[in-house]
Amino acid sequence: MAKTIIISNRLPVQLQISNGTISAIPSVGGLATGMKSVHSGGDSLWIGWSGLTDEETPEELESQIDNALAEHGSSKVKLTQKEVDGFYYGFSNRTVWPLFHYFLEYSEFEWESWEIYKSVNQKFADAILDNTNNDDVIWVHDYQLMLVPQMVREKRPNVSIGFFLHIPFPSFEIFRTLPWRKEILSGLLGSDLIGFHTYDYERHFLSSVRRLLGLEVSFNDIYLDDRVIKVDSFPMGIDYKKFNEAAMEHAQRDESQKSELQKRLDTHKESTPDAKFFLSIDRLDYTKGIAKRLNAFEYFLNKYPQYKEKVRLIILAVPSRSNVPQYQLLKKEIDELVGRINGELSTVSWTPIWYFYRSMPFDNLIDLYTTCDIAWLTPIRDGMNLVAKEYIATRTDKTGVLILSEMAGSANEMNESLLINPNNFEQIADTLDRAINMPQEEQQQRNSVLQKRLERYNVEKWANDFMNSLLNQKEKDRTYI
Ligand code: UDP
Repeated sequence: MAKTIIISNRLPVQLQISNGTISAIPSVGGLATGMKSVHSGGDSLWIGWSGLTDEETPEELESQIDNALAEHGSSKVKLTQKEVDGFYYGFSNRTVWPLFHYFLEYSEFEWESWEIYKSVNQKFADAILDNTNNDDVIWVHDYQLMLVPQMVREKRPNVSIGFFLHIPFPSFEIFRTLPWRKEILSGLLGSDLIGFHTYDYERHFLSSVRRLLGLEVSFNDIYLDDRVIKVDSFPMGIDYKKFNEAAMEHAQRDESQKSELQKRLDTHKESTPDAKFFLSIDRLDYTKGIAKRLNAFEYFLNKYPQYKEKVRLIILAVPSRSNVPQYQLLKKEIDELVGRINGELSTVSWTPIWYFYRSMPFDNLIDLYTTCDIAWLTPIRDGMNLVAKEYIATRTDKTGVLILSEMAGSANEMNESLLINPNNFEQIADTLDRAINMPQEEQQQRNSVLQKRLERYNVEKWANDFMNSLLNQKEKDRTYI
């Protein structure tokens, strides 16, 4: 029987070891949810790294781990600490991530981490090959595994392979600076279908294929030997129902059911009823423009001093990749900026910025989304940005204003939000002023359109559209031969 094999750097389960026993807890992230319809029943397998290095895995627990993962339709790829350092923290996050987000000056081109990236990609490919037959369908995810499609294709020429890139694909001028640019393109071209979040990323990829490999490209088809590879855009959605229903339930809560965070937020709202809460939620990553946003906030308060004591900016920065030096520097920069701005502007009754450096449970995210009047997201470059979509999904009375960077992939589908250029402080200050004063009716009109779109193009639809396109492509490819 044909199987579906999903492959990503991390498995959709968290392993916990306590007192010598293992438990595997399913993750609740967007990807895991979206893949539910694809990864269900006994005819699918998810292959990935468990999150524990070989050094962290007691040998006597190996088979218990395998059994626990198997219960969730998962199988692990084993990685040593050295491999995780070279492949994940190294090539993936110090070369590809900055380069594909246009942070050329942060990109390190190190031969050793490239070698480790190749060998770890081979490990993932081998794990697929051990578990695949020719009529299976394989879906490879993201920038950590760009060589896997070709590695699998070499050994299983007829298998169906799809690849989805969750980050931007940069323009040719940026991509060409990568010493291993041809190897990366060839790796990806082992696929039958290559998916991106937006049409722009798709165009950039096709242009690199044409200019670096000299291949024939017609519309979104690439011709390679006797194969046709389709390239298309599939903007990833959210689990709309989950966020919307959580917000509805949240609205029904009485005082005793509210979280501590919600009670604090309510107290502030009651003491200054006409004050506005701005919200931003991001991983602490240089692509998210957090430092720029803080500077823009200060600029706004200087340009519109009437809003002093009338607005609060809540920043939730989720710790991320904290052993990569750039992330440590960024953390320091943001800590200092928040300290300086609060130090200069605070009054006895007002702290302009509330800064949380942690991740929050889902329930608290809903508290923040539903309480804050304005979501203000300013990535300098972002493949998609799901926070923007989640904020809109939780606005059950359709009020609230979303201010979103036009550099986020989600801006393409969220034209009804207020789009800004994160580098244009003048425009940002004026947009914040506009958001504060936007009539409720206008907010509701805009959000109503956005909500309809997000509900329809949810994450499950994204996964199904990709899979259907992959299956159709295989059919077409057979006809072409
Ligand atoms: N998120 C979370 N815990 C937090 C804050 C955020 O799980 O404390 C989630 C958030 O709900 C969203 C995701 O993290 O689904 C961030 O996705 P996004 O596309 O905005 O950015 P990414 O981190 O993937 O670059």
